[in-house]
Amino acid sequence: MLHGAAAGPHILAAMDKSAYRTPLPISDPALPLRARKRTKILATLGPACDDPGTVRAMLEAGVNAVRLNMSHGGHADQLRRLKLVRELSREMDRPVAILADLQGPKIRTGKLKDGQPVELVPGAKLVITTDPCPEGTAQRVGTTYAGLSKDLKPGDTILIDDGKMRLRVEDVVGADITTTVEVGGLLKNSKGLNLPGANVSAQALSEKDREDLAWAIENGVDFIALSFVRAARDVRHVKSRIAEAGRSVPVIAKIERPEALSNIDGILAEADGIMVARGDLGIEVSIERLPVVQKELILRANRLGKLVITATQMLESMIEGEMPSRAEATDIANAVFDGTGAVMLSGETATGKHPVQAVAAMSSILLEAEKSRYLPVIEPDPEAQTFSRSVMSLTGAAHRISVEIGADAIILSSRTPEPALLLSKRRGRVPMVAICTEERQWHAYCLYWGIAAVLVEPATDLQALLETGIDSAIAHGFVRDGQQAVVLTHYDDRSVAGIKLQRI
Ligand code: PEP
Repeated sequence: MLHGAAAGPHILAAMDKSAYRTPLPISDPALPLRARKRTKILATLGPACDDPGTVRAMLEAGVNAVRLNMSHGGHADQLRRLKLVRELSREMDRPVAILADLQGPKIRTGKLKDGQPVELVPGAKLVITTDPCPEGTAQRVGTTYAGLSKDLKPGDTILIDDGKMRLRVEDVVGADITTTVEVGGLLKNSKGLNLPGANVSAQALSEKDREDLAWAIENGVDFIALSFVRAARDVRHVKSRIAEAGRSVPVIAKIERPEALSNIDGILAEADGIMVARGDLGIEVSIERLPVVQKELILRANRLGKLVITATQMLESMIEGEMPSRAEATDIANAVFDGTGAVMLSGETATGKHPVQAVAAMSSILLEAEKSRYLPVIEPDPEAQTFSRSVMSLTGAAHRISVEIGADAIILSSRTPEPALLLSKRRGRVPMVAICTEERQWHAYCLYWGIAAVLVEPATDLQALLETGIDSAIAHGFVRDGQQAVVLTHYDDRSVAGIKLQRI
């Protein structure tokens, strides 16, 4: 609980009656945090949490999945983090998904002379060149993107360093783009460039991305995220490389370019999920559009039964401070009310001063939001081609039965992820436990809203599998003897699908 959160319960009691739904099975304090907290937390790993004790404490405080940001740190650093997380997952007997986030066509300025920052003064001219320019100055600087001069025309805007500086393109001749500084500032080495109006023709995967992707596949990550997705073909490109490697890894499309918004239906059809990457999105589309764009993206992803992660600046003030701001607490809760399945921490855990407190604060805010009556009602789109009718009606029925009879839990067994995904979209108020026989699936459920997963040995007999699964769910504290569960099984390959009620 956040400091001060318990103040004045008597004053809030009257409001609680209408704002909260009681009694809620998931609010039972006897349940482990993993069953009570339904919205998943994806935390970025970095130098601030490289020690095993910190990562363990972050997992205990509510982290479900970790992000390896391939833009920072080499393969050796990322491999060390990956191994540590796998080791802790085994030790703690709990799943932790690992997501490798590919940099994609991120454009940067080049290096500066002696690595020293230079002052960009409003009204001054700055040439950005695609020719080699290893010693940039305030008058001339290089870029990592060789196609930049082809994608820009006079009148276009260039934003530098998360929009802190703004340039206007005056002229493009050969490799040189002459600009006027409109908003100045201190330009440091290798800062991000955003081109809000331009069509960026860079390939979806750079040479570095291809190497990072091969590394991620080889080391068995659970999710691949691709930055700056512009169209469905970018996602297909990554998927085909994964398939060529003989693997199947779910792909999350990071939505941060205006073209992605225009092509969102195609991207959603192709990707396994999306990330509302509000950092670059807030620069590339105007910041005032961001709240509505966030709502729209989450709604569409949910209706198509896709995963959705809301990211960036969720607890930015906690990079330095020990308490979230009021606006941050409200933003996290509102993302839950919008229907996000997961929320992400970036600098807060990767480089911030209080990584564990940030996770704990996020968990408290999520728990409180999830108890309220503001969770969205998500009805999957019956026309969607992304899942089968039978799974859709089975999961809908299991959810309805659990509500109508006041069940204590839903237990699910399936080899494919669709039933868990669709069940999760129903936003049920009881623990939903998925029985897994494969480690990959066990980890993957870490990004599914409300699904707690247990891992058991495969069994030839479905009844035996359910029994060991339920025993494991009891051992983890997700359910108790004497409780009533709705049990949903779905095995296409064995032509088995059904719902039954079971007294545990
Ligand atoms: C973002 O821009 O919101 C984002 C998540 O991207 P990254 O942190 O990889 O820059």
